[in-house]
Amino acid sequence: MKIVQEHKKCIGCGSCAAICSKYWEMADNGKAKLIGSELDSKGENYELDIGEVGCNQDAAEACPVQCIYVKP
Ligand code: SF4
Repeated sequence: MKIVQEHKKCIGCGSCAAICSKYWEMADNGKAKLIGSELDSKGENYELDIGEVGCNQDAAEACPVQCIYVKP
């Protein structure tokens, strides 16, 4: 399973970090950072491979711009 953040769409609302602080934190650039993730080859999305979705599902559903994706 993979969690993906389309970083440029993030408006820095803080919802993901509030709901799912195990995986999300607010970065110095005002956007959310998916902890431990890496930038994809296009340099656009941050990706993290995990076994269980955990609170990332709640974070994805709470994101007002829908820039968090849970991929099987
Ligand atoms: S919930 Fe979405 S828009 Fe808000 S900080 Fe997290 S990724 Fe960014």
